Amino acid sequence: MITAMTNILNKIKEYDKIIIFRHFRPDGDAVGSTKGLQRILQLSFPNKKIYLQNADFSKYLEFLGEEDDMLPEEAYKDALGIVLDTGTAARISNQKYTLCKELIKIDHHIPVDAYAPLEWVEEERSSTCEMVAAFYDAFQDELKIDKEAATYIYTGMVTDSGRFRFRSVSGETMRLAGVMLNQGIDTDTLYAHLYLKELKEYKFESFVYNKMKLSENGVAFIYITKEIKEKFNLTDEMASAAVSYMDGIKNSLIWIAFIQMDDGSIRVRLRSRFVTISEIAERYNGGGHACAAGATVYTPKEMRALLKEADEHLATYKANNKGWL
Ligand code: AMP
Repeated sequence: MITAMTNILNKIKEYDKIIIFRHFRPDGDAVGSTKGLQRILQLSFPNKKIYLQNADFSKYLEFLGEEDDMLPEEAYKDALGIVLDTGTAARISNQKYTLCKELIKIDHHIPVDAYAPLEWVEEERSSTCEMVAAFYDAFQDELKIDKEAATYIYTGMVTDSGRFRFRSVSGETMRLAGVMLNQGIDTDTLYAHLYLKELKEYKFESFVYNKMKLSENGVAFIYITKEIKEKFNLTDEMASAAVSYMDGIKNSLIWIAFIQMDDGSIRVRLRSRFVTISEIAERYNGGGHACAAGATVYTPKEMRALLKEADEHLATYKANNKGWL
């Protein structure tokens, strides 16, 4: 790990221009890690040009500030590209990353696609933001940080770890969160941005509890159609939160939200405790972590097939394991 970090720092020192990328449909970790690294590099190397170049944005994370306008294509060719929090090349938010002279991958997803020659991948880490914090921590005598950078990084650490609840959270996660907090983060305001909801979202939450179903072996699931989104006046992001409402049901170790997108495809968000579900996601155009993965299906038939697989998988897990709740 230290070798990978040292190689990355040395590579950063070699370049005058660095372009940072993340995955499309960004979450707190994708936005936090990219903006956090950008800010650390800007503070530490004021003579270098450090850009964020992404093609889509998150309304929910707008409070973290804007990202950079798109550069012309020729600007990429003498740049070092750094892709954060993105497991596969297809998920990189801006496919012009291929134009960069060299590429680095920094990520905590299961390594299924080694798309960059220089990579630092640690799937045990609770977030990519934790890795950016570790990077800063390892080279504190050379790198600079401030409250703004720490706020970006802490945002991803909090959101990707389910507020420090997931099993990926280690003592090291907490120590690095402490290093960030010591920069003076305004956590009252940050948590208000992250966790306050509009009343219509609570109404939608109650709809989810009323309409969700349980499969024979305890997979909780719901299908949010375009009509439901319209009825509650929800953005795709708000509708996608349905998965997190189903996370606390005893004996239901897998829970899945299907969200119909405007193009007719169905976004699948899979979550679990104790049991691994990433392989199911991988069979349906997706991937992710052991207990938090995403996929895409295109027809109700495929949706039913995925559900059947999840149900059988859960039955096998329950038959062969003890101690789950
Ligand atoms: P989501 O439900 O979209 O929040 O995804 C949960 C996790 O799975 C995140 O870490 C995503 O980066 C990852 N993930 C989601 N969709 C895909 C996909 N199509 N391919 C690979 N990983 C994915």
